[in-house]
Amino acid sequence: MDKNTFRRNELLAAKVMKGLKSRNMTGYYAADKGEALKIALDLIPEGASVTMGGGESVHAIGLSAALKEGDYNFIDRDAYEDKREAMLLAYDADVFLSSANAITEDGIMVNIDGNANRVSAIAQGPKKVVFVVGMNKVCDDLDGAMKRARNVAAPINAQRFELNTPCRKTGACMDCKSPDTICCQFLVTRFSRHEGRIHVILVNDALGF
Ligand code: SF4
Repeated sequence: MDKNTFRRNELLAAKVMKGLKSRNMTGYYAADKGEALKIALDLIPEGASVTMGGGESVHAIGLSAALKEGDYNFIDRDAYEDKREAMLLAYDADVFLSSANAITEDGIMVNIDGNANRVSAIAQGPKKVVFVVGMNKVCDDLDGAMKRARNVAAPINAQRFELNTPCRKTGACMDCKSPDTICCQFLVTRFSRHEGRIHVILVNDALGF
């Protein structure tokens, strides 16, 4: 990465972390994926029950693989025939892992969901929530974050999962009410009531969608 981009991301991440702190959440800056993995593992004690609700960024830094191999109770949703059972286990987990569809420069996160298992676990249940967020997800403000979620994250996910939504064909949100829509719930995380619950690792890389 060009050194000017690196410096710009460092400065922007400092601004986001300041915003997170003002919202009772903790931010971290990782210079690369390896550092992000180390920060994440430092936040997860051995023996912890850990689960996640999707999250390409979590996979991209090697975190899910490390947890599967390590001394953790990693609840792998894909290994469960009964997906509902796995989703319900998430609410009582020690740690929930996620990415964010967008984050504002002042630390507000936006996440959209079809089933709502991910956004509901972020909002309530797991004792600790660890986000892995690439610097490509940082937006100027809440309006920009909502637009990113609808016009970047959702269309790409609709394409990945071959959903029958207008955005899959147009590449932009058409505000649909399609049965396949992944925009059933929008979660705006603007403050954490519980000190030490939400941790956000900002990674100096383009991760996820
Ligand atoms: S509301 Fe519909 S068209 Fe818009 S992003 Fe969501 S799924 Fe796509």
